[in-house]
Amino acid sequence: MSDFNRQKIVDSVPQKGFFGHPKGLFTLFFTEFWERFSYYGMRAILVYYMYYEVSKGGLGIDESLALSIMSIYGSLVYMSGIIGGWLADRIFGTSNAVFYGGILIMFGHIVLAIPGSVTMFFISMILIVLGTGLLKPNVSSVVGEIYSIHDNRRDAGFSIFYMGINMGAFLSPLVVGTVGMNHNFHLGFGIAAVGMFFGLIVFTFTKKKNLGLAGKTIANPLSPSEKKKVFTWISIAAIILTFLITSAILMGILTFNTFIALVGILGFLIPTIYFVVMYRSPKTTDVERSRIIAYIPLFIAAVMFWAIQEQGSTILANYADKRTQLDFAGIHISPAWFQSLNPLFIITLAPVFAWLWVKLDKNQPTIPQKFSLGLLFSGLSFLVILLPAYVGGADSLVNPLWLVLSYLICVFGELCLSPVGLSATTKLAPAAFSAQTMSLWFLSNAAAQALNAQLVKFYTPETEMAYFGVIGGASIALAIVLFLFAPKIQGYMKGIR
Ligand code: GLU
Ligand code: ASP
Repeated sequence: MSDFNRQKIVDSVPQKGFFGHPKGLFTLFFTEFWERFSYYGMRAILVYYMYYEVSKGGLGIDESLALSIMSIYGSLVYMSGIIGGWLADRIFGTSNAVFYGGILIMFGHIVLAIPGSVTMFFISMILIVLGTGLLKPNVSSVVGEIYSIHDNRRDAGFSIFYMGINMGAFLSPLVVGTVGMNHNFHLGFGIAAVGMFFGLIVFTFTKKKNLGLAGKTIANPLSPSEKKKVFTWISIAAIILTFLITSAILMGILTFNTFIALVGILGFLIPTIYFVVMYRSPKTTDVERSRIIAYIPLFIAAVMFWAIQEQGSTILANYADKRTQLDFAGIHISPAWFQSLNPLFIITLAPVFAWLWVKLDKNQPTIPQKFSLGLLFSGLSFLVILLPAYVGGADSLVNPLWLVLSYLICVFGELCLSPVGLSATTKLAPAAFSAQTMSLWFLSNAAAQALNAQLVKFYTPETEMAYFGVIGGASIALAIVLFLFAPKIQGYMKGIR
């Protein structure tokens, strides 16, 4: 987008009205708040819904398989951001993408709210995967559009938006989780659908006044001839894919496990293709090539980090259900409530970390060092949760404070890595690929959860110490390697800090 067009968009957005920020931030904040409310509310009960027995209202899926499905689901949700980003960039613009995405997500939760079978569950999965792919990267990239390039409120704007994400993620396990676990899973999913409905209402009714032209322009529209070509290819691909999938199912080749393996491969193949294409593109300059090299180890670190962080809603959720004393200090704790801990700690500690970086100013860790700290803490969060089994064995129930501590330590890491990660991606990706940076960053999470789909199979209460020990140890080892190479990586970043 040209600087002229950018400025025109900025001029169309009321520049004050939401905590000293552009009014558009209000719309984006609450749209994403409600979308995350529905997503994390659903995830807080989904794993239990899958593996609880039918008599308890669940689907009765094997526990280990349920954990793998949770992971590939999460992986696909972030992978589909590439499609959502591309559609917005080339066909219908970010604002429409957010709206259509919200509609799909809402229907996804509605399908889950109707008591049904495993088939219904998969239909809802497809809707939520596609919907989130349309909504999530695009709503975030509009945040960037409502500030002028030189506006120094921009970073603060992203931090406020990040608070919105985590406030939604904090509230929903308490609401959706409580209703879903204590009353009925479907009612819980129904509340998630209502949450997304509220998000759509906020978006639809405030966007005109608050967002002006932001999200309206199609950054790089397809020409009519390109359109024809693309649609032909998409139709051919869809037909072949449907044919392949149907015959694979009929022949019994496409089982859950082959599908999980397939997503596992895609999770790593797609980012690899991204890096190769960016590196080899004639539009990429030499300095940008060097920055891509610097970005690769950071991306790998992010994959390791998210692999641990995202196990908070799979392995640790299972741990909360099976290994933890839930009658504690006179109250009965719902296992779903543990999902509120990560966002709660993010909300309370993000300002502390922001203050710390400002205070340290020039002495603050460099970007690669922050990534290394992220890995160190995520590794420690797994080593901590290994201790109860070490002290008390795998049979006795564990004090819930161990889990609280583990989530807390992981959040220390998240605050070192996650907010920096997105901005590092924006700075290190070549200018010609700027429309895809948001999706590129989400691919680190997609790859992580693709990896998790395989890793979680190794988890059982009997192997728990080895499981947490090996993964936590690997994260710390990677943290050390990254720390040692940090100055070298910094050199490849060519002035970016
Ligand atoms: N918890 C973050 C969110 O929902 C994770 C996304 C990421 O991978 O950056 O926005
Ligand atoms: N901290 C996560 C994210 O930034 C939310 C979560 O895991 O609940 O949105």
